[in-house]
Amino acid sequence: AKASGSGGFQYFRPEMETNASDRLVLGSALSNALSDGGLFLVYQPQADLDTGRLRGVEALLRWRHQGETISPDRFIPIAEKTGLIHAIGAWVIRESCRAAARWKAEGWHDVRVSVNLSPRQFHDRGLLATIRSALNESGLQAGHLEIEITESMAMSNPAHTASALAELRALGVLVAIDDFGTGHSSLAALGTYPLDTLKIDLSFTQAIGTDPRVEIIVRTIIAMAKTLSLNLVAEGVETQEQADFLSGAGCRTIQGYLLGHPMEEAEFGQWRRGHGEL
Ligand code: C2E
Ligand code: CA
Ligand code: CA
Ligand code: CA
Repeated sequence: AKASGSGGFQYFRPEMETNASDRLVLGSALSNALSDGGLFLVYQPQADLDTGRLRGVEALLRWRHQGETISPDRFIPIAEKTGLIHAIGAWVIRESCRAAARWKAEGWHDVRVSVNLSPRQFHDRGLLATIRSALNESGLQAGHLEIEITESMAMSNPAHTASALAELRALGVLVAIDDFGTGHSSLAALGTYPLDTLKIDLSFTQAIGTDPRVEIIVRTIIAMAKTLSLNLVAEGVETQEQADFLSGAGCRTIQGYLLGHPMEEAEFGQWRRGHGEL
């Protein structure tokens, strides 16, 4: 089991992962979680290394089940299999828009909240309507919402990706490619998508200082993002050494434990005030 903290979690025992009947049990508990308040969001800050300014937050989903906080890496795959992901995903989008609208009302004028999409959500015809209604209901303008799809999702069906991203863009929503560097994309394919942000996968960030080959890859990704005029966010930054390398290489925006763990909304409010943000 992995250590906790408000953004932390416990891993399920491996045998639970592979046991189909447990998956059933967990699946039905998960469907209750949506109605009984067991699901909640935590928010992890992204900030500019040079100015120290807050750039945005990533919303990350948590499930409190029988006293433990379960990682999304464990329950999102179940939600994908059962189809619950549509209801859960819509809830995440709605909650994130509401939170961002509150922060904006508190004076964070250029607030940006990033929301993760799973493959099934991304391929769902109802996604656009879900996003549109979350924006309407919260009063948040589309430009304050960013959706994150992984690089492998983006590359698995290029035609669908191109049209889905174009629709999101037409709505005014920002688009980030998550886990970048892990999904075999070509510069040519990337160049054809309407994108705003590349997120450098944490496996690269965390090899900085230990693996010179990875440092070359990171420099290449940064150069690629510059060529395509994309914003960059380095994920999983835990040490000052990693931050210094990234900043020197031209990636100014970071996300990771060095800056802040994922936090519940109240704690995130304190974090913002502690960092001189409104
Ligand atoms: P991700 O989108 O790549 O999210 C980044 C993960 O890295 C998060 O794990 C975050 O807590 C963790 N992290 C952040 N900073 C650091 C750091 O400095 N060091 C290390 N070692 N880890 C760091 P988390 O919250 O457990 O989420 C895991 C994955 O679950 C996410 O990976 C994402 O793919 C998925 N996920 C989370 N929330 C949602 C959601 O609302 N919807 C969907 N579809 N997927 C979600
Ligand atoms: Ca993400
Ligand atoms: Ca990621
Ligand atoms: Ca990941």
